[in-house]
Amino acid sequence: MERTEWDLVTKPKLIGFLIAAGFFFLLVMVSEPGFVFIVDHANLLFHEAGHPIVGLFSQRLEPYGGTLGQLVFPLVLMVSFWRQGQSLSFAGASIWFFENWLNIARYLADARRQELPLVGGGDHDWHRILSSWHILPYDGTIATTLQAIGWLGMVAACVWVGWRAWQDRNRPLPQADFASAAWL
Ligand SMILES: [Zn+2]
Repeated sequence: MERTEWDLVTKPKLIGFLIAAGFFFLLVMVSEPGFVFIVDHANLLFHEAGHPIVGLFSQRLEPYGGTLGQLVFPLVLMVSFWRQGQSLSFAGASIWFFENWLNIARYLADARRQELPLVGGGDHDWHRILSSWHILPYDGTIATTLQAIGWLGMVAACVWVGWRAWQDRNRPLPQADFASAAWL
């Protein structure tokens, strides 16, 4: 796949990104575990879209469609930003992708209890999925693992931006950036 080189991560861009990410992490921490206002409303929308789309192809895989749906959208953005070499947008989409894992973990942890209110009142995805694999008693363990992956991924995105800025520290600004650089 053809792609352009990563764009420059200047020091002001790095600082701006880390502040924004810091605020987002704070929001994640003060929110109900695995449900961040607006972000998870969007995730829920893609989740609900995923079921019927996957259901069109396979009835057996339909319960997985919701989770796939909510992961595919940020993933498509990640690939698109990666191809365009847009460093900060790529990292932002990665944070969104991994925040989804916290939301998925919240649902998965509820597989035995089934206390979460379900949109559309249908079957509990994870109760069905984990039952079919005979691993229902492990819902808590699996959810904790997904949560850890989610946090690791979000932090890794920030570390990566820092690393890019370090790599770029001696790279000359492209001509077009000079004008805007004066304003940073
Ligand atoms: Zn679902």
